Amino acid sequence: MAKKAARKSSPTAPSPKPQARGPQPRAGKYVYFFGNGKADGSRDMKDLLGGKGSGLAEMTNAGLPVPPGMTISTAACTLYYKEGRRTPAEVDRQMINGLKKLEAAAGAKLGDVKNPLLVSVRSGAKFSMPGMMDTILNLGLNDQTVEGLKARTGNGRFAYDSYRRFIQMYGNVVLEIRKDAFERKFEDIKEASGAHLDTDLDEQALRDVVTRYKALVKEKSRKRFPQDPLEQLRGARDAVFRSWNNPRAIEYRRIYEIPDSIGTAVNVQMMVFGNTGERSATGVGFTRNPATGAREFYGEFLVNAQGEDVVAGIRTPQQIAELEKVMPKAFKELRQITTRLEKHYRDVQDFEFTIQDERLFMLQTRNGKRTGYAAVVIATDLVKEKLITPKEAVLQVDPESISQLLAPIFEPKAWKALPVATKGLPASPGAASGQAVFTADHAVEWTRQGRKVILVRKETVPDDIHGMFVAQGILTATGGMTSHAAVVGRQMGKPSVVGAGALEISESARTCIVGGQTIKEGDWVAFDGLSGEVKIGQVASKPSEILQVVAGQMKPEQSDIFRRFNDLLTYADRFRRLGIRANADQPDQAETAYAFGARGIGLCRTEHMFFGAGRIAHVQQMILADNEADRRKALAHLLPMQRGDFYGVFKAMHGCPVTIRTIDPPLHEFLPKREDLMVEIAKLEATNGDTNTLEATRTLLRRVEQLHEFNPMLGHRGVRLGITYPEITEMQTRAILEAACQLAKEGIKVVPEIMIPLVGAVKELRDQKLVVDRVAADVMKEQGVKIKYLVGTMIEVPRGALTADEIATEAQFFSFGTNDLTQLTFGFSRDDIGKFLGAYQDKKILDKDPFATIDTVGVGQLVEIGVRKGRGARPDLKVGVCGEHGGDPSSIHFFEKAGLDYVSASPYRIPVARLAAAQAALQVKVGD
Ligand code: ADP
Ligand code: MG
Ligand code: MG
Repeated sequence: MAKKAARKSSPTAPSPKPQARGPQPRAGKYVYFFGNGKADGSRDMKDLLGGKGSGLAEMTNAGLPVPPGMTISTAACTLYYKEGRRTPAEVDRQMINGLKKLEAAAGAKLGDVKNPLLVSVRSGAKFSMPGMMDTILNLGLNDQTVEGLKARTGNGRFAYDSYRRFIQMYGNVVLEIRKDAFERKFEDIKEASGAHLDTDLDEQALRDVVTRYKALVKEKSRKRFPQDPLEQLRGARDAVFRSWNNPRAIEYRRIYEIPDSIGTAVNVQMMVFGNTGERSATGVGFTRNPATGAREFYGEFLVNAQGEDVVAGIRTPQQIAELEKVMPKAFKELRQITTRLEKHYRDVQDFEFTIQDERLFMLQTRNGKRTGYAAVVIATDLVKEKLITPKEAVLQVDPESISQLLAPIFEPKAWKALPVATKGLPASPGAASGQAVFTADHAVEWTRQGRKVILVRKETVPDDIHGMFVAQGILTATGGMTSHAAVVGRQMGKPSVVGAGALEISESARTCIVGGQTIKEGDWVAFDGLSGEVKIGQVASKPSEILQVVAGQMKPEQSDIFRRFNDLLTYADRFRRLGIRANADQPDQAETAYAFGARGIGLCRTEHMFFGAGRIAHVQQMILADNEADRRKALAHLLPMQRGDFYGVFKAMHGCPVTIRTIDPPLHEFLPKREDLMVEIAKLEATNGDTNTLEATRTLLRRVEQLHEFNPMLGHRGVRLGITYPEITEMQTRAILEAACQLAKEGIKVVPEIMIPLVGAVKELRDQKLVVDRVAADVMKEQGVKIKYLVGTMIEVPRGALTADEIATEAQFFSFGTNDLTQLTFGFSRDDIGKFLGAYQDKKILDKDPFATIDTVGVGQLVEIGVRKGRGARPDLKVGVCGEHGGDPSSIHFFEKAGLDYVSASPYRIPVARLAAAQAALQVKVGD
């Protein structure tokens, strides 16, 4: 679930249509310039320029202070890979031309000893992939230009600070020398000169750093650090292209379902410097709080620093409000610009800026990632502020993310009972409790063993992504609200607390000391992602506020978030065409589903009722009966119980249609396991146990062996049971109709829809329909009540879809059972696919798990055929879907196109389905 949640946080809203006027992409053009108030690109060119490039172009065109530069397009990246990891000459030529333009705009030249141009080389794909790819700053520095920079600025410390940063980044990204090798050298010098922070180092110390870094490069790459700026530029450009395919970027794309084929753009941009001294700074921020959605200017900055420092958590950054005191003019301008950007993009902006000697520059803007909670708050606020319409609000929120709002919160009493061990920054809301692990690999390993873990890290790095993905929550000791852990946690909808500075983590010892207490690997920890409080111990959780309202334990007026949630879904209902039903077997589930907005039940599995207390014995009796009379006796016991169940479910649905499926699974599922019985018999024999019990157990074993099937999935189940034991269908029909009659007498209207499963041939359905109609007529006569009911079938066997025209002559409705239809179309057992799905996905044989997201090409085709043939034979045929896919947003898009009447999802997925159905209706036309 988390997986999808996250994926959708990448913008699902359709990008605005390309405008007729304004900048346009051009074939054969690989380099797009921006500067002097004009850009070749625009916000509509994300595919080509990436998110970063299109944002820089758009801001330039809007007249904002953006350092000039050029974007080398994603098309160039594609060519780079096509030509065997080589940048084509034409792209290089256009880059050199762009460089000339950039030099003119900057009034400086790359490699010029007196007046050197320095640039950043920045990655940037269509979808933002925070920290997954690489960026290099201060490119253009070498042993000569660094002196030029010093002379020009009269600031030697700054010049050598920039140079050491450049060598490290270039050495790491292009020459592939490990970061920690550099960091170790840096720490050595810090120690030797008694410096506490990196800003404490003076020019001489930084010159030493540069000398050692160069020696390190020579040692590791066996070459001198490249001094030719053009060679540096080409090297950096190609390394950024390559970083598209580094392992963590690949993993990230897999999790977020971003296609591997789209590639990254490369932005080459004039440097501005936040590290020239106390009048300079760098920072990042959001126009609203990305964790809670609150309307507050939000962010962090560092004085005398360069870009990466804030995110990397090198020094703890200051709150952006502080900036007003330190640099009031720049702060005011930043507020104005970002407010303007929010209005322009009509969405929360996540921005990066640098202040060089009190002058503000904008370096990035994009629609901010946010938690599901914040998404709902922001969308409803933006509507209130008239910045967006309800329709846009519906399109703005990722359906998957709103399931986060249903996540549990701590049981307040249990939570209060524990002392606060420490407090960190509340980066991503939600209650998390689990066993501490200190590495991402352990998080994965432990989770595989079925344990719940909290990933505790000093700070997370992009390589931790797999561990973050499986953890219940992420807890870090350093870093701010915009650190890697915070950004990724929010995006995944994972509770996260960051920067809990009191945690002393030792990764090697797998311990963490806090306030004198030691947390060892495996110890329970809990934290609240909304308050930032961390506690030691295991804490029970309870339903979210929304669930409490839905369950009637809280009044809607008491919950702000419920009202917003409800407003958003009410907007969604205006735009959707698909009906929303629930898969619910019991009255309480039906109640919940109704409260979430389901208007009908698409699948009520009657056999689930058989497992209820005091029932299974009768079910077993029925199965063990070797003659019809005995079977009927057992069924007579079940009748009142089933009637009661149906009565409850009907009532909970307040007159909406309820589809009840007759018995479906193979009968052995209701009996004990063969192995268990054998053990029991052996025990009884060994201990001279009661002979009656022994005899009964032996009988049971014999029947279990009789019922044994080689392939139960394809065995005696579904309609085949009703055909061989019509008395089961009779009992179930009677229970359904009697419940309906009873309600009718109480003045409550119900429309039962009786659904026969697993039909592949019209004659199967005809056989069962005769039984249903006969019993229904009997009951209605007995009760003196007339009930409108329908008889239909599940389409879940491929033959059923292929002969839907014949089946529709008998069926009044179809419900696509896409779980079985997927099993039977692929020939994959749903319970066994786990053994090979991973390999299939690695080898790109399958893109997605076909049981989670419908395979539109194959299984979907059967759905389309079924709909077309079925409606051909019976134009008013009602058609829905009741497989797991009914709650999956991208599958819902497909069902919209296929023209189904409704989707049916599990109760907790109903809100997601409502929103997804609205987006589908707004984005696709039926039959497209
Ligand atoms: P990411 O996509 O990982 O955020 P960026 O390309 O945005 O990487 O760059 C990382 C950091 O470097 C950012 O904080 C950005 O502000 C800073 N940066 C990038 N280009 C420049 C530049 N031309 N001048 C000053 N800082 C820059
Ligand atoms: Mg950035
Ligand atoms: Mg089925």
